[in-house]
Amino acid sequence: ASIPEPQREAWKKHQVQGFTDKDGFEKEVVRHVETTLARSLFNCDEGAAYSATSLAFRDRLITEWNRTQQRQTTADTKRVYYLSLEFLMGRALDNAMLNVGLKDVARGGIDELGFRIEDIIEQEHDAALGNGGLGRLAACFLDSLASLNYPAWGYGLRYRYGIFKQEIINGYQVEVPDYWLDFNPWEFPRHDVTVDIQFYGNVRKSQDDNGKTVCHWEGGEIVTAVAYDMPIPGYATPSTNNLRLWSSKASSGEFDFQKFNNGDYESSVADQQRAETISAVLYPNDNLDRGKELRLKQQYFWVAASLYDIVRRFKKSKRAWREFPDQVAIQLNDTHPTLAVVELQRILVDIEGLEWDEAWNIVTSTFGYTNHTVLPEALEKWPVGLMQHLLPRHLQIIYDINLFFLQSVEKKFPNDRDILTSVSIIEESQPKMVRMAYLAIVGSHKVNGVAELHSDLIQTTIFKDFVKIFGADKFTNVTNGITPRRWLHQANPRLSELIASKTGGHEFLKDLTQLNKLELSIDDAAFRKEWAEIKYANKVRLTKYIKKTLDVTVNPASLFDVQVKRIHEYKRQQLNIFGVIHRYLALKAMSPEERKKQLPRVSIFGGKAAPGYWMAKQIIHLINNVGAVVNKDPDIGDLLKVIYLEDYNVSKAEMIVPASDLSEHISTAGTEASGTSNMKFVLNGGLIIGTCDGANIEITREIGQENIFLFGTLSEDVEDLRHAHTYGSHTVDADLNKVFDAIQSGTFGEPNDFGAMVAAVRDHGDYYLVSDDFQSYIDTQKMVDNEYRNQDEWVRKCIRSVARMGFFSSDRCINEYAEGIWNVEPLALK
Ligand code: PLP
Repeated sequence: ASIPEPQREAWKKHQVQGFTDKDGFEKEVVRHVETTLARSLFNCDEGAAYSATSLAFRDRLITEWNRTQQRQTTADTKRVYYLSLEFLMGRALDNAMLNVGLKDVARGGIDELGFRIEDIIEQEHDAALGNGGLGRLAACFLDSLASLNYPAWGYGLRYRYGIFKQEIINGYQVEVPDYWLDFNPWEFPRHDVTVDIQFYGNVRKSQDDNGKTVCHWEGGEIVTAVAYDMPIPGYATPSTNNLRLWSSKASSGEFDFQKFNNGDYESSVADQQRAETISAVLYPNDNLDRGKELRLKQQYFWVAASLYDIVRRFKKSKRAWREFPDQVAIQLNDTHPTLAVVELQRILVDIEGLEWDEAWNIVTSTFGYTNHTVLPEALEKWPVGLMQHLLPRHLQIIYDINLFFLQSVEKKFPNDRDILTSVSIIEESQPKMVRMAYLAIVGSHKVNGVAELHSDLIQTTIFKDFVKIFGADKFTNVTNGITPRRWLHQANPRLSELIASKTGGHEFLKDLTQLNKLELSIDDAAFRKEWAEIKYANKVRLTKYIKKTLDVTVNPASLFDVQVKRIHEYKRQQLNIFGVIHRYLALKAMSPEERKKQLPRVSIFGGKAAPGYWMAKQIIHLINNVGAVVNKDPDIGDLLKVIYLEDYNVSKAEMIVPASDLSEHISTAGTEASGTSNMKFVLNGGLIIGTCDGANIEITREIGQENIFLFGTLSEDVEDLRHAHTYGSHTVDADLNKVFDAIQSGTFGEPNDFGAMVAAVRDHGDYYLVSDDFQSYIDTQKMVDNEYRNQDEWVRKCIRSVARMGFFSSDRCINEYAEGIWNVEPLALK
């Protein structure tokens, strides 16, 4: 329904041109305050100023969005679709201002209108539609895809409630719902873009005219998906991509007028609410599969709506089906969207009438699968019975996929029953389960891990039989990365300017390898001084925040030691807090003279525990109780402070990361797939204490082992140690035992509260090797203290590290995916 040629002149004459200067910006803000928000200069508060500023930028973005989409449609090039159940976007306004290069214009305009830009930015609610690293990775990828001009869409769910807000009350985590959609100026509801999604029902078979069996999925329940679009601006390019989030509502047919007329209004509204529940809440588990029916419903709802949309767009080009993989690349961010493989096969076979083999070729050429974990408790499985009930036709297709796959395996490995059992998509357990990772592997042409060690591990452990079957070429590595726009330029503007002054402008934000020019300035004392001043200023800012929120005074000259990430036994916050207790006991045992010689340190923690993860909550409780004791101990003073920052999220990370001297990435070797905050901390001029795990290994290779504090067991030794714990005699490290004694004597509150934490190490096999790594951790922390005393050398290490971080840009990742997996080319706007 586009406008005929003769009338287009009028449209072109009035085409919206975005503002480019302060006056234009102010005009837009005032217009939005007065008309969109129906307020005026007499009642415009910071919230309204934020909304109007965002709307002004949104208008700008959406004109570029339109141009970008039009260009992509005309060029008819291949597009990438990134399917992720999580997008941890954080705030949009600051990012939009910086990416379109108009933050200074906005700053001036906002100032003239009577506000401060920093206050306006603080008004925005984080879009927290994710748990941790996986969701934030998806957000960084969207930024890179747009910045590099790739035609790409993200597809996700528009949760009404993102990850819960965390409050710490009496040392305990309390979860509060995060209703973030009150007013979201960044989303465009597309009430005209809807898809009806079917659940339940049954499958009927019939014969077509040629005698071919056709399956019809009938009956059941229909829920409608409504599209909401968020524009994703590229940095220093007009390209603006789309993040499409689906919201669920009752289908128009669903509202039961019969019930309504019979006076059963309540139950007809209940149906409506049941439909809306699908997109209501983000499951708050990180690296854990809980197998809830509603979660499976979410997955199918989102995948089916997205595929319908993708197929509809493809069909507009009127190409033959076999060209589908030349036009469409779909990336599965973890196994959450794996049903997309089955759904596309269903569309092609049942609806479009393709032969099975032809359809399957198209499917497997289209999909790529990114694995994010080897932790067994995180590998997704669904009971066959549940799948049968919810998605009867999909279960049949899964069985057929499995049958043909196992037949091919049998051909290759005749008489090898073991391999058939081990790779079967159906696990023959009680109850039988569908193994989603296996389905994803079989349905994709490439499978990648997210750091070298992780990619090696998946090929040699959980997926090793698939390597035998498909060959090693199907498996690859794309080490994770981060966007330097948000994680340097936006989070640390002074450092970004200093780097620009030494590397010849802001080019490094588009080509992060240019950071290496910094090494040329390393002997420049004035440069190092300014570098150190920026770090100090960032620490002062965090100090003020700590004072304001927790009423604890910390000395910004102390070493800031930070561990912020999801709370998880494998990430080992317990190792950190046991180390803190060890330090406290050591300080207490010293004479006042000896104490004076010690280096002051602030141990900063932050992160959410899944609401049902009892041990993680115990860890949070211990950290808070230790803080309560240590922070008011007059013997200790500035020498040690323990801080728990509430409600860690993206916008808090943007404040915390630039303020760190040392950050902790201390997972048991072989458990952290990559980590991305490790990259963020180093990029902001902080050093790392870490294990040989995930991307720490590649960070070490890039920045040099003299610039990182590595300790602990290597991944190849983990299995043997665990075995020895269980079957040999397990003795706990002596210093760690003293820590346990202090806990059990009640130094940090009721000992029973921490019984399970202590017992996990002492009595239950110490699965995460806390005791094995404790001594080397303590020793390495001593090295950190010593090295920090030499500030000049410390700063040199930081500069050298930043200079060598170019590899970890998410731009590099996206280019690797584009070339090695998606086979797509950038398409710049003219
Ligand atoms: N949570 C938030 C809010 C983040 O910003 C990040 C990364 O920056 C993460 C979690 C992931 O952290 P990590 O890589 O340490 O697990």
